[in-house]
Amino acid sequence: MNNMLMDPYGRVITSLRISVTQRCNLGCIYCHQEGENSNSISEISPKTIARIVTAATEYGVRKVKFSGGEPLMRNDFEEIIAALPELKDVSATTNGVLLSERAASLAKNGLNRVNISLPSLNKEHYKFITGSRHGLPRIMEGINAAIDAGLTPIKLNMVLLKGINEFEIDKAIQFASRFDGNLMLQLIELMNFKNTSQYTVDIETVEKMLESRATYMYERRMHRRKKYFIDGVEVELVRPIDNSSFCANCNRMRLTSSGKLKPCLMRNDNLIDIHEEATVPEIKAMLERAVQRREPYYKELNSKNMILLKT
Ligand code: SAM
Repeated sequence: MNNMLMDPYGRVITSLRISVTQRCNLGCIYCHQEGENSNSISEISPKTIARIVTAATEYGVRKVKFSGGEPLMRNDFEEIIAALPELKDVSATTNGVLLSERAASLAKNGLNRVNISLPSLNKEHYKFITGSRHGLPRIMEGINAAIDAGLTPIKLNMVLLKGINEFEIDKAIQFASRFDGNLMLQLIELMNFKNTSQYTVDIETVEKMLESRATYMYERRMHRRKKYFIDGVEVELVRPIDNSSFCANCNRMRLTSSGKLKPCLMRNDNLIDIHEEATVPEIKAMLERAVQRREPYYKELNSKNMILLKT
């Protein structure tokens, strides 16, 4: 492919992660809000999102994931999806609370699959983590509705928290195993965006436990994530912290809810503002500029201070 977005470190952009709102109906203690730290309430329109994605497809991007805030807080989320050009993979990460009413219409409008955040199956822990007493039963309805609508495979996202849900991994695997291969489990290392370092789990211990339980495992190219197969369930471990392999294999461009290209989750000093009227050629030029601003956040240097990239 000669028409592609390659950054100065040779990493090619193949996916877009789009935040559509900062609004949320839960208040998770650790939430990174996709790295957005502005209080802007303006939200990018469906038409502008469609033009941005169209521009990205001209560079070979075929994968889009929506996030937030909570994407389903947007009443026009179906309209956002319906306006997209043809893609290979359109997914969203949601807390699942509003999913049961929307799953069918989201699928009808072109959503392929969902990730659902489920940090705990324990009522008290779930309340502590998310601030909500009513979320859990709503998520269960959401999972069933998403399966009925074909928004599968569903990834259950579980951010690991020391002293809270660290001993619930097995329970989550058993839960996922009841859904005939429709559910996968994604265990995520906590990123410390909200003074939550006391909840950081020793991820090596988790990795060893998964290794000892797995009948089979392999490593995905994306972010070098390890996948384990345990009791018939695919379990993926996402280890972003201090992980130069994670960054070396990052192939994402991000878009903030107010329409700024964001080259890295961890930084806000290199954004590029796309105004609502920008044309596809203008957006293509902005994508090219944004890609030049990409730099691995975690990296290893050799003796000459050159960045070593592991692939
Ligand atoms: N409201 C939606 C949800 O709950 O999935 C989308 C927004 S949330 C920011 C997107 C994803 O980021 C979720 O899978 C969540 O588990 C993950 N996440 C949020 N804060 C995190 C943190 N501090 N460390 C690691 N993952 C985090």
